[in-house]
Amino acid sequence: MLAERAKAKINLTLDVLYKRPDGYHEVEMIMQTIDLSDHLVFHESSGNAILVSCTAPYIPTDERNLAYKAANLLKQHFSIDDGVSIHIDKRIPVSAGLAGGSADAAAALRGLNQLWNLGLSLEELRELGAQLGSDVPFCLEGGTVLARGRGEVLTRLTPAPPMWVVLVKPAFAVSTADIYGGLQVNEISSRPNAADMLEAIGACDTVGIAAGLGNVLEQVTFAMYPEVERLKRKMIELGGDHTLMSGSGPTVFSLFDRESKAIRLYNALRGFVKEVYISTFY
Ligand code: ATP
Repeated sequence: MLAERAKAKINLTLDVLYKRPDGYHEVEMIMQTIDLSDHLVFHESSGNAILVSCTAPYIPTDERNLAYKAANLLKQHFSIDDGVSIHIDKRIPVSAGLAGGSADAAAALRGLNQLWNLGLSLEELRELGAQLGSDVPFCLEGGTVLARGRGEVLTRLTPAPPMWVVLVKPAFAVSTADIYGGLQVNEISSRPNAADMLEAIGACDTVGIAAGLGNVLEQVTFAMYPEVERLKRKMIELGGDHTLMSGSGPTVFSLFDRESKAIRLYNALRGFVKEVYISTFY
């Protein structure tokens, strides 16, 4: 038996530079792991099968599950005949812009590397992870990271100073593909300044980090789902001075340098939104 935690991420910045000839968008993102995590447990099982179970009934547990895909990739790649059962205690909101599925894939690669004694390095795991999704290499790396390319070209940064995060997940899902599909790169009206954010992180400057938040996908998601923009406004009104949508949304988060301020917003939001979380940088 073996257990792994799969941690969610938020984007401190998300910029899309251009659309590439291969159809992908060239991105520049500063990502931060947070302490909101799924818990995965792995058991060796008789036979050859991969069995996935999950506490969230709406997540597929067959070959569409990202943890299943990770296990299958290792089995194929290293001709492994062993069976495994993977249980996912799902705590990260799904289709939310928090990379929950990618985090599960990364946790499965890490866990099975141990369970099956594969001895793979982080670099080898990252290469395999990139085959499962653009965010999987980041989820393997964790911490504070600058991601370029499709999101898989990583530069590890000095860890950001501790900060508190209040997150709200609206009651609907957003498809990342739909949001990128709706983005017109030449119509991006305002971009985050990655250089300023890198400087703020390097200087452990929480004020600079909070001030530098930016995500070019907000304008697309807000146009498709005006409720997300309303939610952002509400969070600002209730004291979330530094508030941003994560990834392609619809989760919106507020950053704080003091826990007491985060708790105040968390309590204020709990009255009228169902899915609200409080977390920290990890
Ligand atoms: P990103 O920020 O990378 O776009 P996301 O948070 O928006 O990710 P996820 O929660 O990772 O989205 O999942 C999106 C889709 O992946 C859903 O349709 C879900 O059914 C599918 N999926 C497959 N496996 C998993 C898993 N283990 N956990 C969550 N979703 C999974």
